Amino acid sequence: MKDVTQQTAAKRILLLRKELDRWRQQYYVEDQPTVEDHVYDQAYHELIDLETAYPELITDDSPTQRVGGPILSGFEKKTHETPMLSLGDVFSKEELFAFDQRLEKTVGQKQSYSCELKIDGLAISLIYKDGRFVEGSTRGNGVVGENITENLKTIKAIPLRLKKAVSVEVRGECYMPKKAFAELNKKREAKGKPVFANPRNAAAGSLRQLDTRITASRQLSTFIYYLMEPQRYGLSTQTQVLKQLSEWGFKINKESQNVSQKDEIERFIEKYQKKRTQLSYDIDGIVLKADDLKVHQLVGNTVKVPRWAIAYKFPPDEQETIVRQILWTV
Ligand code: NAD
Repeated sequence: MKDVTQQTAAKRILLLRKELDRWRQQYYVEDQPTVEDHVYDQAYHELIDLETAYPELITDDSPTQRVGGPILSGFEKKTHETPMLSLGDVFSKEELFAFDQRLEKTVGQKQSYSCELKIDGLAISLIYKDGRFVEGSTRGNGVVGENITENLKTIKAIPLRLKKAVSVEVRGECYMPKKAFAELNKKREAKGKPVFANPRNAAAGSLRQLDTRITASRQLSTFIYYLMEPQRYGLSTQTQVLKQLSEWGFKINKESQNVSQKDEIERFIEKYQKKRTQLSYDIDGIVLKADDLKVHQLVGNTVKVPRWAIAYKFPPDEQETIVRQILWTV
């Protein structure tokens, strides 16, 4: 990037932001993406590289500084008590191990990780008072989301009453199982309606329905993976958090594994890269989370992502990939 002059970089940055904003609108608001995720990711990372080379060109409205997309009208707004963040992502094992090395250096000791599947759905927040489900929302732009409590109540995997009368906020992923997605698109096609591009967009479209009967008919499900203020329950690792969530009655993803060695991480990636087609839900990678919750507090977050976790995204599936050539003119 150093060989790009500031003037050229500035022009290119404007172009990339314009394209990325358009794609974000289609993906987050209209639930109808027009490009594959890896095309978006490539443009996004090019923007990061240019902004890293010329930090004076970073602006608050850059997609690199914001989570998600605009809030949909029609739903009540919900300001999250603590922002709902995205995840930093890498596309090679080298970058993944570099993340591990950096974390080890910052913390001063070797890290153990909760290695989880990266579910291709959309993030939700669920609030319980004395064990009763009282409010649920989308991530929205990370700071403000949409209140979709009534829609979430229709999802069978979301307990309306927990096994213990705790007052907690939990977060996780809402997704549409592959089978439900195939059935839904088949029905839509038969009715001459536009089909959804993938289960993720179908889940997002189904969850943000003003008519909750439509949401109820879509067979959505959830995996919960995050607990706010885990120390209140004497928990000190992410592995313990997952176990506790399950004991309270949440559906957690059972494939998670505790790993600390490089070769264990590699084996986990290889296993699920092969197994992903056999899973009943879509995944687009794996997530490494520092297992020790003290590390989360120690390293904190950027405006957009936690510094204690990283997503490794699988390379695009060649068969599914529609090769699109994007011609950038600077
Ligand atoms: P992301 O989906 O890459 O990763 C962050 C999200 O992963 C979290 O918010 C959470 O919802 C989810 N997640 C799934 N499993 C998880 C787990 N086990 N632990 C923690 N989190 C988990 O980031 P994003 O900010 O939601 O979206 C950006 C991505 O969306 C892009 O990288 C791109 O792939 C896609 N996108 C595509 C288009 C397009 O036009 N195709 C447009 C915009 C965004």
